[in-house]
Amino acid sequence: MTFEENGEIKARPQAPPDPFAHRPPQPKVEIEYKARKEALNTTPKDSSSPQTAKIEEESLPSATPKLPKSSEPKESRSTLPIPPDPPAPAPEPAPPAQDDKSPSRYHGNEEEKTIPVPTKIETREIACFECGDTHQANVRANSSQCRSCGRFISMENREIKDAISSCIQTRGDVHIYKKGIVHSAPIQCKNLIVEGDFTGDAECSGDLILRRNGKITGKVTCKRLFVEKRAKIEFINSVVMDECTIDGLVTGHLACRGLLALKKKATLTGNIKVGRLTVADGAKHTGQIQMGGF
Ligand SMILES: [Zn+2]
Repeated sequence: MTFEENGEIKARPQAPPDPFAHRPPQPKVEIEYKARKEALNTTPKDSSSPQTAKIEEESLPSATPKLPKSSEPKESRSTLPIPPDPPAPAPEPAPPAQDDKSPSRYHGNEEEKTIPVPTKIETREIACFECGDTHQANVRANSSQCRSCGRFISMENREIKDAISSCIQTRGDVHIYKKGIVHSAPIQCKNLIVEGDFTGDAECSGDLILRRNGKITGKVTCKRLFVEKRAKIEFINSVVMDECTIDGLVTGHLACRGLLALKKKATLTGNIKVGRLTVADGAKHTGQIQMGGF
């Protein structure tokens, strides 16, 4: 028992050291914190006086702006609960925005219902080169066949970039590029664009567009004739069209069933037979004019 009593007596002195065990870590942290402040200031080493410590704390943010940043994250750790507040309201408006988008997708579904409409086949009238009979053919088709005589009808678009001696017969478009040469070979097509050298016959169910100087010795028949700026064209044979627009230099006799328009840079030399005529300021014409009579 006496030993126990002695043990109790010994236990009493052991109790006080426990609180010291809890306290010592706090002063250590403070010491480290002060040591870091001293290292940041690198000014006076006398940290013993409390006045100098206060001055150091006040001078930290202003004198050394970069250094306090390293200490800021430690403070931000304690202020972590602040940032989660703003994100909370953000998700609230987000869901309604998605709801707004979702109805638009439903509208898209309605559009999809209207998509199947393109099942309609776009067609255009094709005339036979042999018998002249016309029929409807798919616009995207490369060829067709005459319903009357059974002749093959090409609908391909042709791009001419070099010399060609064979005739061209298609219901598609023909584009003669700058290096393209078509002399004696006649051309039958829908739209004909001439940027190269062309001298032969031309029969276009659509537009004939002339963009370059040249002498066309063949007969020309088209729906609409365009002679663009800087183009200098000489027609040796007859030229017949429904409409005509001239903004370049043209020499020849023209027969236009509809409107013949002379733009301000047009210079036309030759007799013309027109349904209607418009002459812009600056346009020039030399020759006889016959209105109507078709
Ligand atoms: Zn035919």
